Amino acid sequence: MVESANQRRKALSPKPVFDEATLLQAFEERNINSKHAHKIWRYFLQRGAANYDDVPELPKSAKELLEAEFAIMTSKVVKRTDAADGSTTKLLVELQDGQRIESVIMRYGDVVLDSFPEEEKKKQVKDNDGRVQFKSNKRATLCVSSQVGCSMGCTFCATGTMGLMSNLTSGEILEQLIHANKALSDDRKQKGEGSGPDYIRNIVFMGMGEPLDNYDSVISAIKGMVDVGRFGLSPQRISVSTVGVVPRMVSLIKDAPDVGLALSLHGPTQELRAQIVPTAKSWHIEKIMEAAEAFVAQQNARAPTNNRRRKVLIEYVIIRDVNSSPEVAHQLGRLLQNKDMLLNVIPYNPTTVPFDYKPPTPEELRTFLTILREEYDVHTLMRQEMGQDINSACGQLVIDSTIKKPVCDSENGGVVDMEDLVVSNGSTATKKTVKKTTRRVVKTGNGPVKDDTPRYQHWISVGLAVAAVALALHFGWKYSARR
Ligand code: SAH
Ligand code: SF4
Repeated sequence: MVESANQRRKALSPKPVFDEATLLQAFEERNINSKHAHKIWRYFLQRGAANYDDVPELPKSAKELLEAEFAIMTSKVVKRTDAADGSTTKLLVELQDGQRIESVIMRYGDVVLDSFPEEEKKKQVKDNDGRVQFKSNKRATLCVSSQVGCSMGCTFCATGTMGLMSNLTSGEILEQLIHANKALSDDRKQKGEGSGPDYIRNIVFMGMGEPLDNYDSVISAIKGMVDVGRFGLSPQRISVSTVGVVPRMVSLIKDAPDVGLALSLHGPTQELRAQIVPTAKSWHIEKIMEAAEAFVAQQNARAPTNNRRRKVLIEYVIIRDVNSSPEVAHQLGRLLQNKDMLLNVIPYNPTTVPFDYKPPTPEELRTFLTILREEYDVHTLMRQEMGQDINSACGQLVIDSTIKKPVCDSENGGVVDMEDLVVSNGSTATKKTVKKTTRRVVKTGNGPVKDDTPRYQHWISVGLAVAAVALALHFGWKYSARR
């Protein structure tokens, strides 16, 4: 699959300077010390270099090579769409060959954290338990695409109907982050410095594509994201969402052991899953669950305390009369109980697939969740409310351009930051924390779903970003971005 996608795509020319393997190989072929590559990245990303002349002591041979064969950016933002409440920004990014992908920035507003940098301390507040917390509006998550289209063909996913058109290079994945940071910087300039998030702090691989089907590029991009000389993000703030590519889930333990893992499960049994996720035929649910458990087990074997246990986020797109019955809820409960797993139930977001799928009714959803929470004590994540502005679905940008819709669907004005869902003891959020974040969408923990039908209708239409957003973050609750 990887080869065929690449074969369909011409090699990039110029090549992305942020594509590590390509740049290092070109340097090696010309006997240029690799330290100059690291210096170039550092100067462009951290020291405001605008061209190669701004990078000091660059050998002439390196400069000639760069000018002849590499570009600082190979993609461009062709459209930016902002939710009216400012919480979400969608960037339609055009690649060098004209193909388009979408990246979505999700901002978190008035939230309360357990810790925050010194300069923010004046904003400290105390919660009911007397714990000091700090208010911040400086967080943003980016939902990135890893492929143009996707070959996995999940029956409810519009991206799956596209087939796989291209794999992104690692440079193209990292360029999405550069575009997003630039958008945040533009915002700050417009509103006056100090207003809004400084930079992207969390990444979720939940845009178009199956990240583990473009493994090498995704791993290389993650390496760039966490490198202190480049983006300096904490690996715990990067989440990789997969439909369950077992061999790659296994190799992730070696190649990116600290990232958050999200598993798109959608069905608790092999039979049911195979009906809606074609790749279930290649990777049996038992093997997928084993791989997910092994991944989080190696993380928790290194966890400093039992209170800081990591969890796999289980994504479950719930479709009426397909995987929404009480019986299925019991099966799911039995599968997930007593595991380091957090369930994110996402009502099916109606989209352009050739099936007459519908989201569950509020009643069905309530029953489903109650079974999981009360009978199996499964931690679940649910959105209850959302912002008012939901008109511009993330996927619509790509629909306009290519008649296709990616899955990173964050049309909602309100988004969830998993950081808000975890308290200092490592458990899912307390009522207090939830209350602080409810306007922004989510309820978590084991409480009943609020009976709020009209709003429910809203959030059905929003779909995934919730997952995306949520996802990102349960993996790292403490403010630890290294910049
Ligand atoms: N390919 C990866 C990552 C991108 S998909 C994966 O499948 O995990 C991101 C999430 O959006 C997945 O959980 C996916 O199942 C979900 N999704 C796709 N189409 C959807 C739809 N129509 N409604 C709700 N969620 C959807
Ligand atoms: Fe691909 Fe994920 Fe969509 Fe399935 S849900 S088709 S794996 S993008």
